[in-house]
Amino acid sequence: MKTTTIPSATTQVMIVEDELIVAENVARNLKKFGYDVSAIVDSGEEAIQTARNLRPDMILMDIMLQGDMDGIEAAGQIHNQFKIPVVYMTAYGDEVTLERTKKTEPYGYLLKPFKPQDMRATIETALTRYRVEQSALERLTSQMQLLSAQTQPYRSAGLNSPVSKSGILKSVDIHAANAPGLAAIETKLRQAIAHQQFHLNYQPQLNLQTGEITGAEALLRWYHPEEGMIPPNVFISLAESTGLIYELDEWVLKTVCQRTLLLHRLGFESMTIAANLSGHQFSCPDMNQRLIQIAQEAQLDLRFVKLELTESVLVNDIDIAIQNCTELSNLGVHISIDDFGTGYSSLGYLQNLPFNTLKIDQAFVRDVDKNLKHQAIVQAIINMAHQLGLEVIAEGVETAAELKFLRQHQCDVAQGYLISRPIPWIEFQMFLTEYRDGGFFNHPKQGA
Ligand code: C2E
Ligand code: CA
Ligand code: CA
Repeated sequence: MKTTTIPSATTQVMIVEDELIVAENVARNLKKFGYDVSAIVDSGEEAIQTARNLRPDMILMDIMLQGDMDGIEAAGQIHNQFKIPVVYMTAYGDEVTLERTKKTEPYGYLLKPFKPQDMRATIETALTRYRVEQSALERLTSQMQLLSAQTQPYRSAGLNSPVSKSGILKSVDIHAANAPGLAAIETKLRQAIAHQQFHLNYQPQLNLQTGEITGAEALLRWYHPEEGMIPPNVFISLAESTGLIYELDEWVLKTVCQRTLLLHRLGFESMTIAANLSGHQFSCPDMNQRLIQIAQEAQLDLRFVKLELTESVLVNDIDIAIQNCTELSNLGVHISIDDFGTGYSSLGYLQNLPFNTLKIDQAFVRDVDKNLKHQAIVQAIINMAHQLGLEVIAEGVETAAELKFLRQHQCDVAQGYLISRPIPWIEFQMFLTEYRDGGFFNHPKQGA
């Protein structure tokens, strides 16, 4: 099976959103990516009616809506009646809301404000999952029919059928049933691991006080021989749904530990490389043990291991998160909260979690020198973080003006295309060497 990231021209998407500006913006981006917007509605009742009439391929559902019915209730009814995949668009999510949405078995979440490319990746992942489930469902249905026909003689003879009537199939059942679509993706991912199609790129991180490059974030790339570069936003969720994420995350951790030690031996003594960790990996019961073992095998002190976790991963199972993070933190592992500001953004949620760094999402860094709202948010995050003794990293810094603002407002570290794109290992070493003496701000390229 070919995983494609190009949507078919006929994919019909319905938008359920009561804020017209948001709806229009989403519609514009959908059209830009080649989707058809089949309808825009602003209430739950209308959403159900329109889903019945138009049967779109996918629904983007806001939670707060006009009328008596909220988006979760509408999504639940649509799920039960029409089985159309729903992706929630939401600005926040308390635990109760999150639990309610989970019951409707959504195909994804888009946390407002989201980037157009994230919306596309989420939709494509949702559609791929939906197709895989559909084909598994069809195959299983025909098997059931076949078995039912085969067991007819038993039943007419008053004997128990060897087939259990399991009722509605869920995606978990599909895992167990070894769906052909998922199996194909799994094979492809396995081959990719075996054939070393995965690479890590390293995006340098700049200390805004000293101008030194203090570390990097490792970002995964899949170079497929025919399909070219497949972005992580697409394959990570595929790896998660096939369970291969464990292997992948483990490979990332191992590589990152080895490379960090190598940098130390090359004289970059306090350098750290942060690894992103998926929710699956993080909630794995033996996660900490495995991490300790990986670091030990690489002979790297756990103080130099840095993990990036998103808020959604942490609040997904807050008790496990607290337990895991506390253990890791006691061992000296450095923990960063990724994409801060886009998800739950409530330190109330995070107050029991021992972590060291907040990474401000690019959504707020963009135009921070001009956008007053972004300025207020970024300043508030920096102040709050510093009061709590946390380090702040700004992500996605693209302009000198953004960098200047961040520096003036005591942001600790910056990362983004302005400093460097994520680059292959060799280039990263060259980059470090180039900026080793004198640092970033005094470098001739920076016009200082
Ligand atoms: P993230 O952790 O938030 O990573 C930052 C993303 O922003 C990266 O996209 C990076 O290339 C991009 N970026 C960096 N600077 C700039 C900038 O100045 N402008 C813009 N427009 N973008 C910038 P990428 O590499 O496509 O990664 C996307 C996401 O995939 C990551 O988001 C992370 O959640 C996930 N991911 C990447 N590598 C791994 C991995 O090894 N394991 C796991 N579990 N997830 C990973
Ligand atoms: Ca990250
Ligand atoms: Ca991030």
